[in-house]
Amino acid sequence: MEKVKIRYVEELINVLPNHFNIKIIKILNGGWSNFSTYQCIKCGEIFVTKSLDDNYLLLNKKNIQCPNCETILNDNLIKYPERILLNGKVIYTNINMDYISNINNSKISEFYLLSDM
Ligand SMILES: [Zn+2]
Repeated sequence: MEKVKIRYVEELINVLPNHFNIKIIKILNGGWSNFSTYQCIKCGEIFVTKSLDDNYLLLNKKNIQCPNCETILNDNLIKYPERILLNGKVIYTNINMDYISNINNSKISEFYLLSDM
């Protein structure tokens, strides 16, 4: 599976009632880049898609295997970070994707690109 370099920020969020200071990442979109993020609910691997591919992917992801844990991603992929894998469970974060607190501390890393292979 192809990897792409993407700039992102880390944020600490609280998910009430009892999860505090959970580190999540937000992709910095803008200009030519417009990515959405997903997570494997078996191993926590984070994937990106080009947003225009989203509808297509949701219908056609059945045969895509997680390169980290080899799970077939159909039914094992969640929209991240609106939902995240935490201690083996999927939880809703109710996160505000428009709010970024520390844009000056952005980092670049490589993420697997889900595409219509
Ligand atoms: Zn996985």
